[in-house]
Amino acid sequence: MADSLFAPGFKARPWWWEAAEPPLRDNSLPDHTAVAIVGGGYAGLSAALTLRRLGHEVTVFDAERIGWGASSRNGGMVSGGLKVASGDLAARYGAQRAGEIAAACGASLPFIEETIAREAIDCDYVRCGRFVGAWSPAHYDDLARNADRVASMSGMPTRMVPKAEQRSCLGSDFYHGGMQADATGSLHPGKYARGLAAAAERAGVLLVDQVRVAGIARDGSGFRIATNRGELRADAVLTATNGYSRGPGGASAMPWLARRLVPLASYIIATEELPQEVIDRLFPERRMISESRRVLNYFRPSPDGRRVLWGGRASFRQVDAVTAAPTLHQRMTEVFPELNGTQITHAWNGNVAFTFDHLPHIGVEQGVHYAAGCQGSGVAMATWLGHNVALKMAGAANTPFALDDLPFPTRPFYNGDPWWVLPFIGNYYRARDYMDRAFG
Ligand SMILES: Cc1cc2nc3c(=O)[nH]c(=O)nc-3n(C[C@H](O)[C@H](O)[C@H](O)COP(=O)(O)OP(=O)(O)OC[C@H]3O[C@@H](n4cnc5c(N)ncnc54)[C@H](O)[C@@H]3O)c2cc1C
Repeated sequence: MADSLFAPGFKARPWWWEAAEPPLRDNSLPDHTAVAIVGGGYAGLSAALTLRRLGHEVTVFDAERIGWGASSRNGGMVSGGLKVASGDLAARYGAQRAGEIAAACGASLPFIEETIAREAIDCDYVRCGRFVGAWSPAHYDDLARNADRVASMSGMPTRMVPKAEQRSCLGSDFYHGGMQADATGSLHPGKYARGLAAAAERAGVLLVDQVRVAGIARDGSGFRIATNRGELRADAVLTATNGYSRGPGGASAMPWLARRLVPLASYIIATEELPQEVIDRLFPERRMISESRRVLNYFRPSPDGRRVLWGGRASFRQVDAVTAAPTLHQRMTEVFPELNGTQITHAWNGNVAFTFDHLPHIGVEQGVHYAAGCQGSGVAMATWLGHNVALKMAGAANTPFALDDLPFPTRPFYNGDPWWVLPFIGNYYRARDYMDRAFG
């Protein structure tokens, strides 16, 4: 272990922001807008772009800065609904509906690829594939049972890699083999958020920073929107606040939505620059890596191929990124012992949003549209949800979207604040992971 885990000049903010920190725009709040979008992440920006291209006047507000939330903090792994494939959709919705939902999720990957190409977004996108490491031999068997489903949903191959061949795709013996899935890409999330915002602005969308929406009320055929910078009117409203839907002091633009989302913090560290041969050894195929365990890690080389970016649910308490960093570093060295003396230059965190039915949702409640709940896998999905909710708002959808207006469950007495219960749930999942590893 190095003398200090933290390199000189360490920063508690996203490494992505070195190249693409969300800028502060000095735009004023209009008195009226045709469409008001609350939340300037991928979902809000993608919706804005689609609505604008359909001829609507659109304003996007963010409580902080456009792109400030999960959209400029994530791991940059771009997948098309892998998490949904593992859920037992058919039992809940019947085979046909389950197939439609799976197809709707799978379509998010081609859509984001098309968006990046169409808008010429410079965000280091590569279709690199993923390796999901099996936490135990039984998890390997589960992955193998699921592999065909993942392949048919994405329309791209999967391949099981036994432990003996694991070093062909990952420089570690930590896992019991794993599954390669081709339907995964990688990008620089900060550059993608910046590029999507620039595309929306080029199309004529107004982006306004530091406007926290405190309430949305019906007003005739439109809406009155209360914000920290005064009130405005809008003909239509979309809430795209995802893991930040419950703001400081429990305030929320749309309490109905906050009660249906479970915000969870995800943490990432960036290592100092490493020699090229080390990165080549750890990531021989430059794939994105995740794991089959419940409290999982996800990791990758940085787009410039010089660092390891290591992410995971380091804590189920509300701790800051610096406090969480040693846990992530320890997990990294369990998988890559040769990184034992490596220092951390950046550590950060952000909020993702889970739902009680484990599905993403778009819909409308009391006239206010929403798009949310990507289960921590929303680079492609949030972009796709935003586009689809925009088509719905504009009445321009040619075909039904399977994630539209599904029943959206909450729980009795749940107010959108799960933080008091998360440590118990986290310990339960950790215990199950421990048992699986020890006895699986
Ligand atoms: C650390 C981390 C790692 C991740 N890794 C991956 C990954 O590798 N691959 C993947 O697919 N997904 C990943 N995700 C998830 C992915 O980043 C999100 O699903 C996606 O960015 C969600 O986009 P969004 O637009 O819905 O929300 P966000 O980008 O979170 O945007 C919501 C915005 O709403 C604003 N807001 C909230 N309340 C208000 C209000 N009242 N008024 C105005 N504005 C408001 C917030 O300031 C915020 O900017 C990760 C997330 C995190 C945090």
